[in-house]
Amino acid sequence: MSPVIPIAAEPAPAPTAGSCAAERPVQRERGQREVFCGLTGIVWLHRKLQDAFFLVVGSRTCAHLLQSAAGVMIFAEPRFATAIIDDRDLAGLADANDELDGVVAQLVSRRPDIRLLFLVGSCPSEVIKLDLGRAAERLSQRLLPQVRVLHYSGSGIETTFTQGEDACLASLVPLMPTVGTAALPSLARGDAGTPADGAPPTSLLVVGALADIVEDQFRRLFAELGIPEVHFLPPRRAGALPPVGPGTRVLMAQPFLAETVRALEARGARRIPAVFPLGAEGTTEWVHAACLAFGVPHTTFAMAVGPRRERAARSMQRHRLALQGRRVFFFPDSQLEVPLARFLARELGMQLTEVGTPYLHRQHLAEELALLPDPVVLTEGQDVEAQLDRCRAAAPDLVVCGLGLANPLEAEGLATKWSIELVFTPVQGFEQAADLAELFTRPLVRRHKLGATDAPAPAPTPASPWRHAA
Ligand code: SF4
Repeated sequence: MSPVIPIAAEPAPAPTAGSCAAERPVQRERGQREVFCGLTGIVWLHRKLQDAFFLVVGSRTCAHLLQSAAGVMIFAEPRFATAIIDDRDLAGLADANDELDGVVAQLVSRRPDIRLLFLVGSCPSEVIKLDLGRAAERLSQRLLPQVRVLHYSGSGIETTFTQGEDACLASLVPLMPTVGTAALPSLARGDAGTPADGAPPTSLLVVGALADIVEDQFRRLFAELGIPEVHFLPPRRAGALPPVGPGTRVLMAQPFLAETVRALEARGARRIPAVFPLGAEGTTEWVHAACLAFGVPHTTFAMAVGPRRERAARSMQRHRLALQGRRVFFFPDSQLEVPLARFLARELGMQLTEVGTPYLHRQHLAEELALLPDPVVLTEGQDVEAQLDRCRAAAPDLVVCGLGLANPLEAEGLATKWSIELVFTPVQGFEQAADLAELFTRPLVRRHKLGATDAPAPAPTPASPWRHAA
C-alpha cells in the first residue's frame, strides 16, 4: 500500500390525479446506473469539518476521482488523500493492515493539525475485505488523545454519491455526548404540547452539511425565533460534536441522511417531519415545522419569517419568468430530486416530465411528496438506457443529471444541469433562493447565447440582494 498525493501536504400503474403522498405510484427500476460513488462527499465534508482528514483506502481510480472532483492542487495540502491498495496488497504479498498503519503514522507525523481521521472504505477495500472498523479501533488506541480514528464506506457498490455524507455523519453519532431531558421554560408552562410518547424538546439539531454562511443565517434566524439551543451536525470542529438525547429534535437539512437520522433516533432524538429548506416556500415550511415543535408563538414566527420570505420570493421573480411553463426531467443522482422538483414546480412554475431518484425514503419525504403536483411520474432506482429513451421522447427543456450523462445529452441538443452542483453550492435558505433558481436558468440562457431559438433570453441579472448580505 502506498500513500498517494496530498499526504505531504418493477413498472407501476399510471399516476392518478389526487393521489396522496403515501400512495403516489413509483416506478422502480433495477438496471444499469450512472452515478458517482460516496467518495465524492469528501469534497464538501473536508471543507466543513476543518480539523478532520479523510484517508481513502482505495485504488488509483479512487485517487483520480477525488483529485479531479475536488479540484485541489497537491501543494494546497488538502485534508484528504488516498492510500493505494497496490498489486502487493492484492496478491497477498503484503499485510494490508501493516501497510495502512505505516501510511497513517506517516500522515499523522506530517499533519499534527489532524484531530479526527476518517478511514474511508472503497470498492477495492471491500473486495479484499479489509476490515477498516478494526483498523480504526486499533489506530485510535494508538493515537488517542491526539487523533481519533473513525471509518465509513464510500464505496460505489450499490450506493450513490450523497450516501457518503450519510455514512460519515452516522459514524459520528456514537461519539456525540448524551444530554438529559430538562424542558424549555416555555414548554414547562404548557405553551407547546409535550409529546405524549417522548421527552419535551430541549434542543434543535440541524442535520446535514451546510455552507458556513447558510449555517450562520439559520443560527441568527433560530435565535430571533427564540429557540434557545441550536446545534448543527456536522460541526465545524471535530471536538465540538453536538449533544444528543431524548430532548433533541432533529431537523433534516438534507434528504439523504437516513442512516444518520436512524442512529440519532436510536439515541433518543426525534425527527421533526418537514419539507427541506429549498426556496422561499420550502424554507418557510421547514422553519415553521421547527417553530411548532418548540412552541414558538405564531406572531414571532410571522415577524421573523414574513419579510425574509417576501424578499426571497421577489428575488426569484425574474427566474420564474424564464422558467415558467418549461419542462424538466430528473435523472436519479443526488437524492435531492424530489425537493428540487417541488421547488421548480411550485415556486418557478416548471412542468415535471419525470422525477427520478436513486432512493425514495417515503417517511422522510412525505411532506415533499404531498406538495408535488398531480399527476407526476416518479421513478426510483435506474435503468439508464430505458430512462434515456424516455427522456429523448419527452424532449424536455432542461435535464437534471449526473456528469456522465450531461455531455452526451448536450451533444443531442438538450440543456442539462449537473445535479452534483446542487450539492456543492449553498442553496438552502431564504437568502439563497434566487441563487438556487439561477442554477436552473443558467443552462437555458447559455443555450440562448449559443443560438438555440427556443431558449429564453437572458433576463437582466442584477446581483442578488442577498449575495452580499451579512
Ligand atoms: Fe470507483 Fe469504487 Fe473507487 Fe468510487 S470507490 S472511485 S466507484 S473504485
